[in-house]
Amino acid sequence: MALTGIQILKMLPKKNCGECSIPTCLAFAMKVAAGQTEIGECPYVDEEVKATIGEASAPPIRTIKLGSADKAFTIGGETCLFRHEKRFENPTGIAVLVTTAMAAVDVDGRIERFNTLRYERVGVNLKADLIAVKDSKGDAQGFCDLVGKVLAGAADAQLILMTADPAAMKTAATLCGDRKPLLFGAAADNAEAMAAVAKETGCALGVKGASVDDTVALTEKLSSAGLKDMVIDTGARTVRAALEDNVLARRAAVRSKFKPLGFPTITFPCEMTDDPLLEAMITSVLVAKYAGIVVLSDLQGDILFPLLLERLNIFTDPQRPMVVSEDIYSINGPTENSPVLITCNFSLTYFIVSGEIEGSKVPSWLLIKDTEGLSVLTAWAAGKFGADLIAQFVKKSGIEDKVKHRELIIPGYLASIKGELEEELPNWTILMGPREAGHLPAFLKEWKPAA
Ligand code: SF4
Repeated sequence: MALTGIQILKMLPKKNCGECSIPTCLAFAMKVAAGQTEIGECPYVDEEVKATIGEASAPPIRTIKLGSADKAFTIGGETCLFRHEKRFENPTGIAVLVTTAMAAVDVDGRIERFNTLRYERVGVNLKADLIAVKDSKGDAQGFCDLVGKVLAGAADAQLILMTADPAAMKTAATLCGDRKPLLFGAAADNAEAMAAVAKETGCALGVKGASVDDTVALTEKLSSAGLKDMVIDTGARTVRAALEDNVLARRAAVRSKFKPLGFPTITFPCEMTDDPLLEAMITSVLVAKYAGIVVLSDLQGDILFPLLLERLNIFTDPQRPMVVSEDIYSINGPTENSPVLITCNFSLTYFIVSGEIEGSKVPSWLLIKDTEGLSVLTAWAAGKFGADLIAQFVKKSGIEDKVKHRELIIPGYLASIKGELEEELPNWTILMGPREAGHLPAFLKEWKPAA
């Protein structure tokens, strides 16, 4: 049963010293109860209390960290069924599969695409996270060689080691050192031996059941043997079964506090179809519904990028609008004669406007004014995007040092502030941009600085 903030407060030293980065013990207790910080952040709590509170305030889906301490990739830690109830905590890990049955050139291609398919959006770097290395032929030496190749070729990849042979698993996990991989997997016939390897190497263990019931039996058995960090595969290999199992596991853990299913899941779209587009669609379903990790057969930009954006959207905090920093953004290599546009810092607006400017191929300066994540009209109505504030920002932004002309293009929806803005910025000519971002390319191609 989860503890309330007041129950947690009673167990704290109540020094109100702020060393946990939170000013008071009460505020700290409330955050621990809400799962927003960990009890270990208070240096004055003894181990016994830490264990009591840590266990009671742990999220229903266990938090699992893969990789080295300084570059850990976290999955699980989820506390709700629906994003709007609170937020989803840790994004689904996207993995690509390489196997000992693949030709070297195919493995190299996947490693290369893992390293190069990276995208930057709203200040966030988007990329695949893991490489799953599978022993397809029962060849321990070949498996370890492949693990070594991935370790050397993909420095920031988290690894999933896939073999049914505990001895090969131990050798490969030892090779990985502090890059602590996920060991996959413990099935009914090798669970004890795999658990021993996981304990010895300090790695999380993938548990592979043939059904939900089978998985529950395995996690119960491994939990009573003292294993804590597990990732579960219920054996589902169709999208329908995987979706049903993911929902069932999340619901049982969150609503019924059913601990044997309180672990992140690993799913295998790569084993559900041979069609890359269908695989992408299956993956998108599983990202939306509770997969801790999805394993893809390959990485291709046209498939990976939309999946990364879907993941970005689902795992952002709905209580906090996504924003971009207030700044001057240069697009398409602008010069002192390039147009200057201004808009708000709501990230969706930024995405759309910058995307249209980029697509127009017209070199441009885009001023992004901090409107606390509100969109253009909402920000204007809330008094955060008025003529006075825009003028202050334009003057202090430094744009006057970057362009020779003095023409500012404002969003078409702000027609009503044109006159006021001209008064606030007497040296500037204010131009009305189009109302819809889709009309920006044509607008920009026509624009010429006044002689
Ligand atoms: S560090 Fe501990 S004692 Fe100090 S304010 Fe935080 S919770 Fe209270």
